[in-house]
Amino acid sequence: MTHIAVIGAGITGVTTAYALAQRGYRVTVLDRQRYAAMETSFANGGQLSACNTEVWNKLSTVLHGVQWMMRRDAPLLMNPTPSWHKLSWMAEFMREIAHYRQNTVATVRLALKARTALFAMAEAEGIDFDLKTRGILHFYRDRASFEKATDVNALLREGGLERYAVTPEEIRAIEPTLAGRYHGGFFTPSDATGDIHKFTRGLAAACARKGVRFVQDADVATIAPGEGGYAVGWRQTGHATDAPQVLQADAVVICAGCASRHFAALLGDRVNVYPVKGYSITVNLLTPEAQRAAPEVSILDEAAKIVTSRLGDERLRVAGTAEFNGFNRDIRHDRIQPLVDWTREQFPSVDTDRVVAWSGLRPMLPNMLPKVGRGRRPGVFYNTGHGHLGWTLSGATAELVAEAIAAEHAPERTTLPLAA
Ligand SMILES: Cc1cc2nc3c(=O)[nH]c(=O)nc-3n(C[C@H](O)[C@H](O)[C@H](O)COP(=O)(O)OP(=O)(O)OC[C@H]3O[C@@H](n4cnc5c(N)ncnc54)[C@H](O)[C@@H]3O)c2cc1C
Repeated sequence: MTHIAVIGAGITGVTTAYALAQRGYRVTVLDRQRYAAMETSFANGGQLSACNTEVWNKLSTVLHGVQWMMRRDAPLLMNPTPSWHKLSWMAEFMREIAHYRQNTVATVRLALKARTALFAMAEAEGIDFDLKTRGILHFYRDRASFEKATDVNALLREGGLERYAVTPEEIRAIEPTLAGRYHGGFFTPSDATGDIHKFTRGLAAACARKGVRFVQDADVATIAPGEGGYAVGWRQTGHATDAPQVLQADAVVICAGCASRHFAALLGDRVNVYPVKGYSITVNLLTPEAQRAAPEVSILDEAAKIVTSRLGDERLRVAGTAEFNGFNRDIRHDRIQPLVDWTREQFPSVDTDRVVAWSGLRPMLPNMLPKVGRGRRPGVFYNTGHGHLGWTLSGATAELVAEAIAAEHAPERTTLPLAA
């Protein structure tokens, strides 16, 4: 059987492994963490949001970034210390402003396909991930931002999304717990939310039942061509003195989140993923009053760049902020507090005394589109760089990369007939 090594067991790696196992490949997934979905796919915003597929490549994003540089609680924050990685990423980001329209329409189309694929996986494998299909509501506080959003809505509709404008009265009818004053909003009934960590772990268990091997605590250090495929060299995490171990595979798929740029460089490719840091809080809703006071419908506050997802009865996830600060994962109090304050403003009766803070690094490419498909060398593939939409897009990109692999490697190795 053709053996494929998948590097990374986040949402992209596990969906890729599943798509390959379904096609009959022998698959090994390697990850440096002890369990699947422990890095960016751990506690994100939870939104399966075709409605949030507008790419950020706009002059207004750059202007906001500059204005906000001095505000510690700003939704977008840039560490001014220059680095070649950050500068090259920014330059490419600016160049992609020219492709804003086409990239937005392409992303919404991908998100619609992904949603169908993800729901199909969950149903086939019986995965409980606190799925809520109550839609996503964007709100705007003033006329100017609402009118700008009307133009974005036209693009999302061009990509095939059903999404419509709502009045302040309709906002309150859709989500009665919202307490703020709003000019208007847009509602996407078909969008959904769920717990990315629960889903990824559930799908990893399904993969294991199908014969996929997971090698955890495995810090991959080298990927070198050899024996008609690739030798993947790894060491057990925290045991740098142990002898390196090697796994031989016919092909490799890089799904390593923010580490994908490093692996691409090893393999002669340039995949300019930058780690764009974000934070979430998980508000534990322990009383019936707090549960009633928290929203069931998912919210997106465009001005504050904050999203919410209700995960089961007892948890409300609130996430946001984008920080350009390298691979720093520190949880900063001054970045968490705005999420808590926002929750109290919008949902005054939600208790915020049991809040769990988290930070994660979005693996983001300058054009905001994931890198999916083959690399320069035969047998090298990528499914990575999903940025702020990895949960939303992975269902589709896993299928795309599996198709690209199938075009070059049959699941069964062909053997020449023996000479008589
Ligand atoms: C605050 C926040 C909110 C978000 N909200 C949403 C949302 O609402 N909706 C949405 O669609 N997306 C959202 N996202 C984005 C989404 O979470 C990510 O795009 C997605 O989780 C990325 O998945 P991944 O598999 O690419 O990366 P990861 O989940 O990080 O997986 C990469 C894996 O590679 C492994 N790895 C790396 N290096 C090595 C190595 N050397 N050896 C072995 N293994 C290695 C890591 O251990 C990790 O498990 C959000 C992100 C953040 C930070």
